[in-house]
Amino acid sequence: MEDCIFCKIIGKEIPSEFVYEDDEIVAFNDIHPKANHHVLIVPRKHIPTINDLNEDEKDEVLVGKMMLVARNIAKERGLSGYNLQFNVGESAGQIIFHIHLHLISNG
Ligand code: 5GP
Ligand code: ZN
Repeated sequence: MEDCIFCKIIGKEIPSEFVYEDDEIVAFNDIHPKANHHVLIVPRKHIPTINDLNEDEKDEVLVGKMMLVARNIAKERGLSGYNLQFNVGESAGQIIFHIHLHLISNG
């Protein structure tokens, strides 16, 4: 997706430090953190919103893996509690139309 900022970050066209990456998922710090820890967990596959998840392509497995990546980052950092959030649609505050899970915590 040529106009997608997150595709550009994933493709290393825009420099960004990954805090995690595997063949399906990357994670990097939010540019405008809302707490001490604010990580975005992002699939390499371009899916605009949660509404676009495709069961035929097993996207629900990918979303499950995103949750586990978030859980592992929280565990590694020793976070006692954290929030996980998907914003879905413009009216809910989604500004980047490539799905991402916010991991937000103050420790
Ligand atoms: P949304 O509101 O779409 O759920 O969240 C998008 C998030 O991406 C926002 O929290 C915003 O600060 C973050 N963001 C937007 N552009 C960039 C960028 O170029 N780099 C990084 N690291 N984060 C970004
Ligand atoms: Zn994208």
